[in-house]
Amino acid sequence: MKLIFELTTLSDFHIGSGYGKGDLDSVLLKDRFGAPVLRGSTLKGLLRQAISDLMSLDLLEDYRFCQKSNGNNDAQPYCTDKLCPTCRILGNPGVSKRWRISSANVKNKESVAQEKVTRNRVSLRTRTAEARQLFSEENCGKGAKFTFQVTTEANGKETLEEATFITAAFRMLKNFGASRRRGKGACQIHLHDLKTELDLPIQEQQTVEDYLLALFKERWLEGEELSNFSKIEDEVTPVTTSPNNFFRIVVLTEEPLLIANRQEAGYRYKSHLYIPGSTLFGALAWKAASRRDLKDEKTYEKFIKLFKRGALKVTPLYPAYFPKSQEKSESIAKTIYPTIPSPLDLLSCKLYPETEKGSHGFEHCAIKKEEPKKCEVCLSKEKKKETPLKPLNEYLVIRSLSSKNLKKAEVAIKEEMHISIDLDTGKTKPGELFSYRSIDSNQYFLGLLEVDDFQVFNEFINLENGEEGFFFNLTIGKGISRGYGKVRVWLQNVDSPADVFLGKPIQERVNVKEPITMTLLTGAILLDKWSRFQTNLDKKMLEEILGPEVEVEVFNSFVKTKNIDGFNGYLGLPKWRDVVLVSGSSIGFKVKDPSEEFLTTLQKLEEEGIGLRKAEGFGRIAFNHPIYNRNAGVKTRIRLPNSMRIPRRISQQESFDKRWEDSLSTLNQNDFSDNSWIAIARWIQENVQTAIPELINTLDELNFNEGNIKDLIKARKVSRTKELFLEKNTKGREALIVVLQKLSDILKDYENLKQPLQVKALKLLADKLADFVLSEGEQ
Ligand SMILES: [Zn+2]
Ligand SMILES: [Zn+2]
Repeated sequence: MKLIFELTTLSDFHIGSGYGKGDLDSVLLKDRFGAPVLRGSTLKGLLRQAISDLMSLDLLEDYRFCQKSNGNNDAQPYCTDKLCPTCRILGNPGVSKRWRISSANVKNKESVAQEKVTRNRVSLRTRTAEARQLFSEENCGKGAKFTFQVTTEANGKETLEEATFITAAFRMLKNFGASRRRGKGACQIHLHDLKTELDLPIQEQQTVEDYLLALFKERWLEGEELSNFSKIEDEVTPVTTSPNNFFRIVVLTEEPLLIANRQEAGYRYKSHLYIPGSTLFGALAWKAASRRDLKDEKTYEKFIKLFKRGALKVTPLYPAYFPKSQEKSESIAKTIYPTIPSPLDLLSCKLYPETEKGSHGFEHCAIKKEEPKKCEVCLSKEKKKETPLKPLNEYLVIRSLSSKNLKKAEVAIKEEMHISIDLDTGKTKPGELFSYRSIDSNQYFLGLLEVDDFQVFNEFINLENGEEGFFFNLTIGKGISRGYGKVRVWLQNVDSPADVFLGKPIQERVNVKEPITMTLLTGAILLDKWSRFQTNLDKKMLEEILGPEVEVEVFNSFVKTKNIDGFNGYLGLPKWRDVVLVSGSSIGFKVKDPSEEFLTTLQKLEEEGIGLRKAEGFGRIAFNHPIYNRNAGVKTRIRLPNSMRIPRRISQQESFDKRWEDSLSTLNQNDFSDNSWIAIARWIQENVQTAIPELINTLDELNFNEGNIKDLIKARKVSRTKELFLEKNTKGREALIVVLQKLSDILKDYENLKQPLQVKALKLLADKLADFVLSEGEQ
């Protein structure tokens, strides 16, 4: 069930991002493109407040089972058996939260910006680069409309009961934000829409909000059982079967992602710069389990097969590279390209690395017996400088480019400071401040998903079937109940796994008689035959991987390891510690007398992966990755379907400017060559505030000579004489009237900015007329 709320600010408001000049709250929280945002954690605090306010009403006295629901001090700290509304909706130490709140995005950015520009001279239309700058005054004006969603995967009578409670609580709330007590932050929250799989008898003249408030009264105030609805069977639309099991998975982050490292140091939550396979896998399992009833034996069996017996496999999702579209385009990106973590044997000059301007190139070292230690280019120059080589440690873009050098993809990080809040009591812990470091919203991540039975997968995830593939929403990582982790997912069938991270079939990469480099695209967990963790890639290990009867000569290997905790909280598996050969590790080798089928063996290894925990994406490998050849001839361009594009928020000002420019360009210079048009231009200049119909009228009735035009400018009135300037210039006059009429029409679409836009538009028109005359004189 999904409740869509709209929050309108009735006074100035301010929600800080945590940064500022000595004052923790002095900067308005904005997204990467400069629009104000209310974080889910703020809204969650708001809901907590709203529920607490509602529970303090005498009418709801009977439901105060515990201290959380305003029960007296003798009451239990939180409900354990029968749950009060507060515990049901917000969860407690014994009950997990069922509802999640999204972040709120502003709907009418421009009308808020307008207020701000005039008052503070700080533009809210700032783009990416300025988004994190510190502004001295960052109050957002009243009249801002935000929308946000309160959602749960559940659907049923209890969910409906809770929905009525949330709606009533929000409806009662009057203020929000840090300055609640100082009279700022007055707001109104209305239920805007409701999405549910319940069949609700909502009357035609009734709003959804009215309906839910009526149910609230029935259920919570009068103690009636809700009965007047039926549950639509949760139908799953069958999907068209796919030719094979491999899918490219593209994720668009709609909210920041918080993916904590296992090693959380101090109060700082670090975040991975990619989405680990285990995190994605866990998110899918969570969605599946909350959508379907696992008490049903058949469903349970399917679930276990999918998530525990390897019918579903994912890889980590690496950041996708997107070239920014042209400024005028309606979306930020139209195409994306995959990336991989840079191979450890791809060594580059420390001063002039491969991915920077003036690069000194790179060395492909796994196939070299003697590893070069110094940059050749630096050595060969006159100065004979000795510069060490080092691995790039970047995400390298797989894209065939005419320009020579490899590109890197960057991940935008967001840091937010928080006062430490006890999430159970809602109280702040004195003096504790910590920062969240999260992957910012509006970025793409990309990987591979493999599923044995797509129909079963669909039953659990309920895919939307589109022309370009399959789509669904997912929440990933930590903090998902407070505005983090919402992503949009796109699955697209691919011919082979090589299409995703390689862009070239193995036949075009590998000649089995030549040296071969095996690179780990993801971390790998390898055991030797005594089940000990492998910490290196060597001849013995490689021969074990490649199969019996294969003998290799190893040139060089570049390997790093790290320890990770294996865990899967949801599936209740025990924790253990694995040693992982990290992604990018590589080994160069040559096969002695390769058989006919050897290439097929390599292809299979690429498709299936090696080692343990393949379902979570460990052990993905590539032979002769095209990156070593600067991606020559790869096909990796991915065209984003419309629903996966990030809309560029064109401001009203920009869209108006464009439309008015188009209209002005219809004026023809030849119609305005007469010198007297200068006078008309001045008349317009002086009448930029005059209503347009009045201007048109004046032009319509205009019968005057040159002298009287000058009078007109002073008197602003029409006079009549024999010499009729505008009769000689009918074409110009008509064109002018048409363009003014057009302006009047366009302005209707910008009701709240009408006056300033008209002034600007008429000034431009006057300039244009003057330009026509003057440039005519020059010729
Ligand atoms: Zn309770
Ligand atoms: Zn160099």
